[in-house]
Amino acid sequence: MDKAKKAFAINALRRASYRWHTRYKAIKKAHIGRNEYVCQSCGQIVGAKEKQLDHTIPCVPVTGWDNFDGFIDRMFPHEPSGFRVLCIPCHSAKNLQENNERRKHNVRED
Ligand SMILES: [Zn+2]
Repeated sequence: MDKAKKAFAINALRRASYRWHTRYKAIKKAHIGRNEYVCQSCGQIVGAKEKQLDHTIPCVPVTGWDNFDGFIDRMFPHEPSGFRVLCIPCHSAKNLQENNERRKHNVRED
């Protein structure tokens, strides 16, 4: 497949996931007060701007890209547990770890 087309489609799907219903449920679950969210990894309380939504199961597996069916399935989880609210350091650490795994599998970091 054309790499530019694939990247465009992946970005469009990622943006669409911001409006996915279980994402709102996951945010609501982590919301404990006015502008207060609990990081579901370290328990730190962060403001709205510091909270990040993480796909619990990486949309692109650490073993490498499989196909759009699998990607879409993971991008739009049916359960709110498919998303986690994380603080920025926890999200960065998780992404770093996943990218290290991908490197071990010698696959591109999508
Ligand atoms: Zn955290």
